[in-house]
Amino acid sequence: GVPEVPARPVAPRRVSRQIHVGPVAVGGGAPVSVQSMTTTRTSDVGATLQQIAELTASGCQIVRVACPTQDDADALATIARKSQIPVIADIHFQPKYVFAAIEAGCAAVRVNPGNIKKFDDQVKEIAGAAKDHGTPIRIGVNAGSLDRRLLQKYGKATPEALVESALWEASLFEEHGFRDIKISVKHNDPVVMIEAYRQLAESCDYPLHLGVTEAGPAFQGTIKSAVAFGALLSRGIGDTIRVSLSAPPAEEVKVGIQILESLGLRERRLEIVSCPSCGRAQVDVYKLAEEVTAGLDGMEVPLRVAVMGCVVNGPGEAREADLGVASGNGKGQIFVKGEVVKTVPESKIVETLIEEAMKIAERTSPA
Ligand code: SF4
Repeated sequence: GVPEVPARPVAPRRVSRQIHVGPVAVGGGAPVSVQSMTTTRTSDVGATLQQIAELTASGCQIVRVACPTQDDADALATIARKSQIPVIADIHFQPKYVFAAIEAGCAAVRVNPGNIKKFDDQVKEIAGAAKDHGTPIRIGVNAGSLDRRLLQKYGKATPEALVESALWEASLFEEHGFRDIKISVKHNDPVVMIEAYRQLAESCDYPLHLGVTEAGPAFQGTIKSAVAFGALLSRGIGDTIRVSLSAPPAEEVKVGIQILESLGLRERRLEIVSCPSCGRAQVDVYKLAEEVTAGLDGMEVPLRVAVMGCVVNGPGEAREADLGVASGNGKGQIFVKGEVVKTVPESKIVETLIEEAMKIAERTSPA
């Protein structure tokens, strides 16, 4: 299961109201959740459920599916029923699909009021249907589809424009007594995005869904998201996150989980502390670190493993970790909880570390 207890929270969390996306609490002090979005045609129920199963296995807690056609809307009920994690329907342009998604039993609906025509006139009915079914709504403002009126007022998608749009749309729901809302104000530029969320966090008490939209291919997108989410989460802002990558969605989940773990917002499982290597290294540190990471992948017990290239910082770091190796002279000194337990030839380092990790896991797991 997903560890619930924050390891060493980076900052007090912003106080927000709490909503429930299916069984997952968002805001109000609940652990920050990780979400992603399927890339299959939603109308292809089999392929979509298969991808949701893969996402679930990778640690995804909430999944969003696109709903651009009637066939997609027709598939929502089965997907929502059979998915292991709560399903959010993502609706642009057509309010009729908002109602379909609510009727289908989706755990929440994302609307983009910026591109729903005459949104103001529809809110009463949407709020009514959502209230009847207990379905929360995400107001998802996007720089790329900002309300025309605000684009004209601000000239472009500034942080102020994004925030004004979101708060205006929330106020329309509030007029009908509906507050089961979370908000996102996404932009592809982390600097604008950070400022928008900072302003939004101060102006309302709704839980916030963080995202850098169109963040890019895996490398660039990972860095943009890590920087932007890090800046916000380290100030306690953000209740659920979605990393957007032009890469398979399970990769987004991996990155999201790593970001939360790096900030101490989620207990770390495997942490490899490996040195960057230098002219002093006496083993191939890159290869060793990669082999150890691969060998220990999927370990459920939290484990900090030091992989060090030489004896300068090696023994010190290896001693601080649960398990470690400091290499030198074609050999590896293996440390467990600070004690050298054995010295093995270089060729045996990886298998010895894995053996020792298994022993620690056995000792740590409840009988
Ligand atoms: Fe270089 Fe040794 Fe430090 Fe690795 S541990 S970076 S090899 S000095």
